[in-house]
Amino acid sequence: MARYIGPVCRQCRREGMKLFLKGERCHTEKCAIEKRNFVPGQHGKDRKAKLVGYGLQLREKQKARRIYGLLETQFRNNFEKASLSKGITGDVMLSNLERRLDSVIYRMGFGTSRPQSRQIVRHGHVQVNGRKVDIPSFMVKIGDEVAVREPSKNNPTILSARDATAHAPSPSWMDVDREALKGKITSLPKREELVQIQLNEQLIVELYSK
Ligand code: SF4
Repeated sequence: MARYIGPVCRQCRREGMKLFLKGERCHTEKCAIEKRNFVPGQHGKDRKAKLVGYGLQLREKQKARRIYGLLETQFRNNFEKASLSKGITGDVMLSNLERRLDSVIYRMGFGTSRPQSRQIVRHGHVQVNGRKVDIPSFMVKIGDEVAVREPSKNNPTILSARDATAHAPSPSWMDVDREALKGKITSLPKREELVQIQLNEQLIVELYSK
């Protein structure tokens, strides 16, 4: 499946909830969910069918895929990896998604959304343990030091993202020095620390376990 390049807000409307894909705009009244919270398309307003079983599981998986901006194969691979790991598969899967470098940059507040953070990583503005890493799927581990690289410390996108996210507390599994544009991973994210992720990961596990 090719990467989705259509209207971003359409994805939130399809899932019926804010997925926070557009940074600051998501917190304003311009958000499409605030204005037209119904399924996109000609008959979107009339679609009121209650989802059960497979439909419910599929929507939950699509929601997760859209939140983290992954293709089906990438998402499936992440699930397979989690299912082979120790622990509850759904929890490990979410933890692994949060440990992606693009997600970590977003959580540190150096990007206003995951798509923007992905671009920041792709453009080579980030280093891990002193070495440049431009792979958004790079998975951080305990003790890793993630920082904006020296030549990028005046990057206006990163600086304005830091200002825009100043009100948001940093996750408990990382130590963030916002002034120095860096942070350290102190533990792996646990499910109870990811309350802001409104997902029922068990439904995804059930879908892929068929
Ligand atoms: Fe989703 Fe953000 Fe668009 Fe609102 S503004 S619909 S939260 S991407």
